[in-house]
Amino acid sequence: MGGWASAERRRALREQLVAWQRQHGRNDLPWQRPATPYRVWISEVMLQQTRVETVVPYFERFMGHYPQVADLARAELDDVLGLWAGLGYYARARNLHAAAQRIQIEWGGELPEELEALQALPGIGPSTAGAIRSLGHGLPAPILDGNVKRVLARIAGIEGWPGRSPVARELWALSAALVPEEDCRRFNQGLMDLGALVCTPREPACLLCPLASICTARATGTPEAYPTPRPARQRPRRPVRLLLIEHADTLLLERRPASGIWGGLWSLPECPPEQDPLTRAQALGAHCVPTGELPQRHHALTHFELVLQPMRLQWSAAATAVGEPGRQQDWFRPGQEALPGLPAPIRRILRDAGYPIEEGPRGP
Ligand code: SF4
Repeated sequence: MGGWASAERRRALREQLVAWQRQHGRNDLPWQRPATPYRVWISEVMLQQTRVETVVPYFERFMGHYPQVADLARAELDDVLGLWAGLGYYARARNLHAAAQRIQIEWGGELPEELEALQALPGIGPSTAGAIRSLGHGLPAPILDGNVKRVLARIAGIEGWPGRSPVARELWALSAALVPEEDCRRFNQGLMDLGALVCTPREPACLLCPLASICTARATGTPEAYPTPRPARQRPRRPVRLLLIEHADTLLLERRPASGIWGGLWSLPECPPEQDPLTRAQALGAHCVPTGELPQRHHALTHFELVLQPMRLQWSAAATAVGEPGRQQDWFRPGQEALPGLPAPIRRILRDAGYPIEEGPRGP
């Protein structure tokens, strides 16, 4: 932790950051009005991998439906996933729902204050737990989201990619050492705001930064070199054939299995690589004729890239088999009725096919 072992240096940093946050930070975000533990939790989970501007309308709508833990706990998972559609990484929504049910039963509907108890809940990692405790309960706790990692790596000149355990440990140790006993809410908010508004990944505005005089990265002249970027890697590609089966003005959709990509959401039926698309359509209950291919869509996930190849089929007659056991399929009228929650890439494919589907925010 280098020079940060000095209490005086840490105090100077806290004071400068808190004063800056009061004047220049973000104090009017929807989850700060009021900043309850529940609202902070929902916003933190939504903000994982997703930008503030995208999250705001989702957050407002979510709070409109589920203003309290109890409302979320008794909601249907399908409805929660529907509100989440377009934000991506749907495991987050499933975890929120499961955690709300446990908070209701185990904690009487109030989020616990202790980090350990928070982290025992589905989908709550160390940084989200720290944010709930500090921003929501107003109690001291360290945080380490993407913005904070960057700010701390620069201030202290911490080398190495933060995805590596020893580097992450060093950053956590620094975040913990900096936690003030008083006003931790504003201090942590200041760290996050500084990362979002001033100490940005590219071209940080060091001239406007309250920590410029004590920042190691700035002194090197190349602050952007921190934190060390993730070592380059190529995501493996996974081809997926999708069937767009049409009958009059209806379209066949099927619900994805609960686990895996887009778990529990509705989507176009998938055709395994070894199976003929017409045979697969028959297994779904439809004799079909092919009517053409739609443009390929690429969709990057954390560990691989999906190459989606949609194939257009026209229903010609009912097949003997009707549906597949254990799978839920149904016909929908896009444009004439509300569709269930669809993943963003599937919405784009339906638009490619000429259906009047609204452009949702980008997401997996
Ligand atoms: S001085 Fe520059 S690099 Fe250092 S914390 Fe401030 S904005 Fe970031």
